[in-house]
Amino acid sequence: MKVLEHEICIVGAGPGGVMAALFLAKAGIPSLIIDQAKFPRDKICGDALSAKCADILQKLNPEILPDFKKQDFQISSNGVNFVAPNLEVLRLKFGGSGPGNKKVGGFIAKRFDLDHYLFQWMAQEPLITVLEETPAQQFIRTADGWHIQTPDIRIETKLLLDASGAQSAFARHHAGIQKEEHHFSAGLRVYYKDVKGMDPDNFIELHFLKELLPGYFWIFPLPNGEANVGIGVRSDVVRKQRMNLKTELKKIIEEHPVISKRFERATPIDSVRGYGLPLGSKQRKLSGDQFLLLGDAASLIDPFTGEGIGNAMISGMKAAEIILAARTKGNYHAESLAGYDAAIYRRLGKEFAISTKFLQLVRYQWLFNFIVRKANRNATLRETMGCMFESVDLRRKLKNPLFYLKLLFGRDSG
Ligand SMILES: Cc1cc2nc3c(=O)[nH]c(=O)nc-3n(C[C@H](O)[C@H](O)[C@H](O)COP(=O)(O)OP(=O)(O)OC[C@H]3O[C@@H](n4cnc5c(N)ncnc54)[C@H](O)[C@@H]3O)c2cc1C
Repeated sequence: MKVLEHEICIVGAGPGGVMAALFLAKAGIPSLIIDQAKFPRDKICGDALSAKCADILQKLNPEILPDFKKQDFQISSNGVNFVAPNLEVLRLKFGGSGPGNKKVGGFIAKRFDLDHYLFQWMAQEPLITVLEETPAQQFIRTADGWHIQTPDIRIETKLLLDASGAQSAFARHHAGIQKEEHHFSAGLRVYYKDVKGMDPDNFIELHFLKELLPGYFWIFPLPNGEANVGIGVRSDVVRKQRMNLKTELKKIIEEHPVISKRFERATPIDSVRGYGLPLGSKQRKLSGDQFLLLGDAASLIDPFTGEGIGNAMISGMKAAEIILAARTKGNYHAESLAGYDAAIYRRLGKEFAISTKFLQLVRYQWLFNFIVRKANRNATLRETMGCMFESVDLRRKLKNPLFYLKLLFGRDSG
């Protein structure tokens, strides 16, 4: 059996793993990254990238974003249409409308293309060794790190970065992350062509249908008249209501009084496929002796919006920062890496807390209808909801008690 020694080994070349490798390389630190797939590969996803992703790419290398915007596999999207259970629509532009707000937008790109694009940037980097079609099958703790067993090679590493996604075996068996159904969602995705009535400004659409609450049905526009269509519902709700998500999706597309009309001439261009979403509604231990968890392996998906790509990228960047600091201490023991958890939750904890609260509120359809009606008339509330989808820093506002007063009692301000 061939043996490879690398100080740092990243398992998984999705957005979390790739960003970790690239930010490490930027700091002059070499790494090995392995993935079980051969790129390009698909990843079941809504394919919507928040402005966070653009921010991270800018921080990494200012050449990437302008180049990404030129790619014809992506389109920009500057807002979201919320559809309440009573079908009232709330149109939110990312970045809010208040003075001083940064106008930042998002993008939509099939993960097949996005991940391959990022993978190619990574493959150009001399400090990164990339191995495709190399599944990590077993993780063995050693005196000074980990042995990662793959079918053909054994990798000996001092620091393991687990970025292997929602089904991570390492997170479950070695980092103590259990799948808890009220902190986990199930999602289905299918690509369609020629869905009618798409938003003229490429806003994404979230339909909070009463039968799915607190989950939702989505339609996200893609280039070439295609759309990403799907549903996401928390796993405890799926179980309690004995939902069959495939049946629910089919019913919405074929029978919903408004939505079905938009699909009359639409054709699916692949099959309905599902995958899990580990939610950030519970804080976890994300680091330990000689390992860090990144992205979905660390349960960093926003509990309300379902956003995980940007958060995975943030975790890759934060991992690189903490590794740089740990190297100066000369070891990757748990104490040297503990700052990672703090850094992640400092950056994402508030967002997760707000989203978790929102998720609790929107279980009640009357309340959801009320919030949408109120937001259609109240700029502060509208802005808050807009902020949940992009990178304007909420913390400044949330510290200010006046903000809550304005939210609850503020006069409707158009
Ligand atoms: C239905 C659905 C819709 C979603 N919609 C959105 C959305 O619109 N916007 C958004 O921001 N987020 C969305 N998400 C969440 C988003 O897909 C994830 O948060 C994101 O992909 C996490 O990135 P990651 O790098 O942590 O993991 P992944 O993207 O899952 O990458 C993990 C990588 O690890 C590899 N791997 C796995 N196991 C092994 C192994 N044993 N050995 C080697 N390699 C391995 C895989 O091949 C893969 O390349 C959605 C998720 C689902 C399921």
